[in-house]
Amino acid sequence: KKQGKDQFAIFEPVMRESFQKHLQMEADLRRAVLQHEFELRFQPIVRLSTKEISGLEALVRWQHPERGMIPPLEFIPLAEETGLIVPIGEWVLREACRQAALWNTYREGQTPLTVSVNLSAVQLERTDLPQLVASALADSGLPARSLIIELTESLLVDHRPETLHRLEEIKRLGVRLAIDDFGTGYSSLAYLRKFPVDIIKIDKSFVDDIGDLPAAAALTLGIIQLGQALQLSTVAEGIEHLEQLSELADGNCELGQGYYFAEPLTADAMHHLLVTGAPPPEMVGGKSERAG
Ligand code: C2E
Ligand code: MG
Ligand code: MG
Ligand code: MG
Repeated sequence: KKQGKDQFAIFEPVMRESFQKHLQMEADLRRAVLQHEFELRFQPIVRLSTKEISGLEALVRWQHPERGMIPPLEFIPLAEETGLIVPIGEWVLREACRQAALWNTYREGQTPLTVSVNLSAVQLERTDLPQLVASALADSGLPARSLIIELTESLLVDHRPETLHRLEEIKRLGVRLAIDDFGTGYSSLAYLRKFPVDIIKIDKSFVDDIGDLPAAAALTLGIIQLGQALQLSTVAEGIEHLEQLSELADGNCELGQGYYFAEPLTADAMHHLLVTGAPPPEMVGGKSERAG
């Protein structure tokens, strides 16, 4: 009994502290939704055969008034737990569509850019998701064909029957679906048949090991061929080195994204890149998200 009491004395302050931190973070996140403290970054997705920008992935950031920029992996789980991902995700979707539609007006005559938006399982549980997507497209004027919704494997594995219907409804609008982080989840192949997927995003962990592990290169090429056989587009994530790019391009991977091309950029920096073809001067060797 005595020992039990000692243990309680040891653990209690730690637990209380982490509980308070959690509560504080939740309160902060609620305020963030009301005060619009979120921003988007845009990372180019490049056609490997021509090196042209084919589209952009929208990635959310939280600009916390005291703590500065908070990356998504540090608040998305809490946002999902509290349901706050619903308003946050709606803002991300609308803002991404608005921005992409605007950029496409500067690109008349060129192939329109696509914009990819990450969706969490909690958003997919909402019966009004297809209406939300339709409304984001209508309000922004972005053609459905230019929107790509990214879903993770785990989301598809744990799906409910309604999820499939909801995805089919979204597909009927003309929106395309991508599987994010492909190869990291379970039963990847089974749900490729079941879900109306258009694009496979090969997880960065495969790309990382190209050049170091022959097995990683073989697996990556295998996924690309699988994609081709199923007439799906393939996107390699997290390309950082020329060697990886060469291997992927030789293997006929269609698209790629990664720091080798560009890190996620602010809307201003992306605008500059799209208009001039070069990142703004302050980006070159200057302050980047990674350094900060
Ligand atoms: P993701 O969708 O797989 O996005 C790719 C992540 O890899 C991004 O991290 C991006 O910055 C990073 N990345 C891209 N190229 C490279 C590279 O060459 N090297 C390295 N080391 N990293 C690279 P980020 O922005 O921190 O986002 C992390 C994850 O958070 C995303 O992974 C996505 O799952 C989630 N996320 C981001 N935005 C949203 C959102 O609006 N809604 C939801 N539900 N999830 C989001
Ligand atoms: Mg993604
Ligand atoms: Mg990914
Ligand atoms: Mg990821």
